[in-house]
Amino acid sequence: MIALIAHDRKKPDLATWIAANEAALSDHRCVATKTTGGVLKERCPTLDLHLVESGPLGGDQQIGALIVEGRIDLLVFFTDPLSPHPHDVDVKALTRLAIVHDIPMACNAATADLIVASPGFAKLAHTN
Ligand code: PGA
Repeated sequence: MIALIAHDRKKPDLATWIAANEAALSDHRCVATKTTGGVLKERCPTLDLHLVESGPLGGDQQIGALIVEGRIDLLVFFTDPLSPHPHDVDVKALTRLAIVHDIPMACNAATADLIVASPGFAKLAHTN
């Protein structure tokens, strides 16, 4: 399962990236934090997308728990380093867990592009 999150000012960028990669993502289940997911669903209604709570209300921690359970194969989290975030500790905890559990993690479009183009992307589990 692919986790999709974007900070507010990066949501349009993630929606654009999702639209450009719709075919590659079409046979993957995805999970997103609530507000990000709403934007993505509007742009790509065909995406197989499950929503958790909004990030500042615990959604980042829910996705962290999915990582711990071994259910996340890729974390795409478009972070905004130029704005303050009240839930910064949750963001740090999530990215820490991705590193601890050796989950591929893209924090910008350039990295996400490389991951989707890599041979490893096709091998990601499709059913988690
Ligand atoms: P959101 O959360 O999708 O509910 O805005 C994202 C985040 O962690 O900032």
